[in-house]
Amino acid sequence: MFTNILLAVDGSEHAIRAAHIAAELARCHKASLRLVAAYDPVPPYLGEPNLQIILDAQLKEADKNIAKTLGMLGDIPGEVTYEVLQGPPAEAILDAAKLQACDLIVMGSRGLGQLTGLLLGSQSQKVVQHADCPVLIVK
Ligand code: ATP
Ligand code: MG
Repeated sequence: MFTNILLAVDGSEHAIRAAHIAAELARCHKASLRLVAAYDPVPPYLGEPNLQIILDAQLKEADKNIAKTLGMLGDIPGEVTYEVLQGPPAEAILDAAKLQACDLIVMGSRGLGQLTGLLLGSQSQKVVQHADCPVLIVK
């Protein structure tokens, strides 16, 4: 049923649970798995060298989260790809899903945000609201 699954990766506990489920689905459906990690654009008014320092730290963090997630997926029969994108996470996830013609987006209900008590974080809310394909939200 699913052939091309996008997994949104931010290193949170919820996203890790989402990764296990996405991997299981990819195995069951012999689907490709597309990992996406996004980082927020750095405001240019911060100037150099701050801009580059923050950008490097964000890229390093995103790469670390992708590597950690790749390491826990287990065997996936289909293609596994990953990308680190600049932009507000929900937009990056929605754009990537469209561009890669994904037929399922898997993500956590919450991420690294500090506001406890919310059922859905702002990024999962936006993706559910605007996605053209089914979205699996993992609690
Ligand atoms: P908020 O960010 O609104 O304070 P939160 O961090 O608890 O709340 P979200 O950011 O919506 O919640 O995270 C929900 C899910 O969205 C995560 O489990 C992850 O799958 C995905 N996600 C969040 N941020 C990113 C990101 N930067 N890159 C890729 N996926 C992300
Ligand atoms: Mg968040």
